[in-house]
Amino acid sequence: MREKRKPWFIFFWISLFVIVFILFNSAHKQRNNETYLEYSQFKQYIKSGNISKVLVSSGVIKGQYRDNYGILRHFRTIPMNDPNLIKDMEDNKVLEFSSIEKNSWIGPILLNWGPIILLILFWLWMMKGMSGNGKHVLSFGKTRAKLVKNKTKKITFKDVAGCKEVKEELQEIVEFLKNSDKFQKLGGKIPKGVLLFGSPGTGKTLLAKAVAGEAGVPFFSSSGSEFVEMFVGVGASRIRDLFDRGRKFAPCLLFMDEIDAVGRHRFAGIGGGHDEREQTLNQLLVEMDGFNTKEGVILLAATNRPDVLDPALLRPGRFDRQIIVSNPDLIDREEILSVHSKDVKLNSDVSLKIIAKRTPGFVGADLANLINEAALLAARNGQNNVNMKNLEEAIDRILAGPQKKSRFISEKEKKIIAYHEAGHAIVAKLLPSTDPIHKVSIIPRGPALGYTLQLPENDKYLTSKSELLDILSVLLGGRISEELIFSEITTGSQNDILKATNIATKMVTEFGMSEKIGPIYLQQNPREDYFLGKDIVKGSKISSKTIEVIDEEIKNIIDTAKFKATNIIKQHINILNKIVDYLLERENLSGEDINKIVNGKELIPLSVST
Ligand code: ADP
Ligand code: ZN
Repeated sequence: MREKRKPWFIFFWISLFVIVFILFNSAHKQRNNETYLEYSQFKQYIKSGNISKVLVSSGVIKGQYRDNYGILRHFRTIPMNDPNLIKDMEDNKVLEFSSIEKNSWIGPILLNWGPIILLILFWLWMMKGMSGNGKHVLSFGKTRAKLVKNKTKKITFKDVAGCKEVKEELQEIVEFLKNSDKFQKLGGKIPKGVLLFGSPGTGKTLLAKAVAGEAGVPFFSSSGSEFVEMFVGVGASRIRDLFDRGRKFAPCLLFMDEIDAVGRHRFAGIGGGHDEREQTLNQLLVEMDGFNTKEGVILLAATNRPDVLDPALLRPGRFDRQIIVSNPDLIDREEILSVHSKDVKLNSDVSLKIIAKRTPGFVGADLANLINEAALLAARNGQNNVNMKNLEEAIDRILAGPQKKSRFISEKEKKIIAYHEAGHAIVAKLLPSTDPIHKVSIIPRGPALGYTLQLPENDKYLTSKSELLDILSVLLGGRISEELIFSEITTGSQNDILKATNIATKMVTEFGMSEKIGPIYLQQNPREDYFLGKDIVKGSKISSKTIEVIDEEIKNIIDTAKFKATNIIKQHINILNKIVDYLLERENLSGEDINKIVNGKELIPLSVST
């Protein structure tokens, strides 16, 4: 949801500058038309009777004179202590002479500084208008959030296909917005802000609209980029206005798309922070702290860059609920296709299931677009319904688009991702001290192409060395599996390697888990150990020999973990293949599914109605 910025205020600024420029210029012109005369010259002109008008003020004498060609000109000169001046003027018939006192200073100042003073005054006036919240002609500091009226076509959860878990989580918000009083009485605690993470086009905006629709409350939609302005203070004032509006219409839902535009980590970026953005973000934090859920206002925000968000935003009392909106899997894709083809006549040869199978990596927006394209193609051919050929051609058309292509996962890639994830899964399953598998998926989620999710059974406060080693093996399992099957390494394991290296480094330098090093703390600055080795070396008392040993020990630990994982995968290659087959077929597997496969059982066939 992006709104077009109205051009009127840009026009306004341009005309203001033009006016100021003209004023300034004409002021200068006048002065430039003045000829500067030496005092002696001036006296001569008086004596020759060519001066017609004189105005004496404290720092300057101005007037009119006739030059040698008889043309009337303006002049200026610097006065001198000349007691004879008046007498000379009288004698030589200067028609008009007068003097102004003192206040003459204001003239030159206005002339020189006028434009700038004007601008400053204008700016102050505008800022005042913002903070005063008065009805101002210039609603610079007003939020551009749009009140989306849901009356004509109410969007509800029915319009959002798939996303089952997300909808379940959001249901609570709906209940709260519906009858916030009742909720309060029961002592229910409601989050102030909910953050939706997910790739573009996965339906985050749609979900937000559906929440408002389900609850029957007003929905204010805005985008983070609207709050990022060139002028310091404008963004912050818009944030204030957004919340004020929310309070006025409470209970209601405020939605902010692309919150990363405002919520970027402060102090990040070259050359320090960005004043305006920082102020805007601070204002957002202040507003979130200030408003009470009792008022019945909830802020829902969306982003696909959770990694760049300022941690302050994620603290309790702010966006304390975070929900991941994954890309749709096979079943979701089929559902989304059928939602969007509701009003489209489909030929009997159409199988949405096959289309869903052919579109891994497509998000909701792509699928909606696909149906639309197919309908257009059918109409162009003069058909009276959409057939399979139209749909397949539509897929190709969407793939031809520049960004979509990068999102699409080819068969080959799908297979590599499947082996990678199956590698993690099988090591996780077969090593004794690892957390149970919750889900394995080859559908992208955020920056990850696939994921294997493990959840601990109980809260854990201590982790043993062998547990850490097993975690390392699981992390390396993905890459090892790829390597064994394809004899080739891809870039997909970068994050696994980073995590593994961090753990191994901590084992050696912080946890005292290396025998050669012993229980010695070697991280200089535990808060800044992002860059491997950097802080160990930086100005430390650690000798270069010790650093060598540290490196060696880190490598030893990684090698041990790698060896273990390789053995497991090699010994259970059949199970690995089986997991991959199932993953390719259904894209997601539950922990239960993995258990069954490892125990040699078949999975219940997929039942998708077409
Ligand atoms: P985001 O906000 O995540 O970028 P949007 O909510 O703007 O995505 O989605 C764009 C369009 O894609 C929606 O208007 C809708 O037509 C379609 N769409 C996306 N996800 C779904 C879904 N789960 N079910 C139905 N339609 C969807
Ligand atoms: Zn991995």
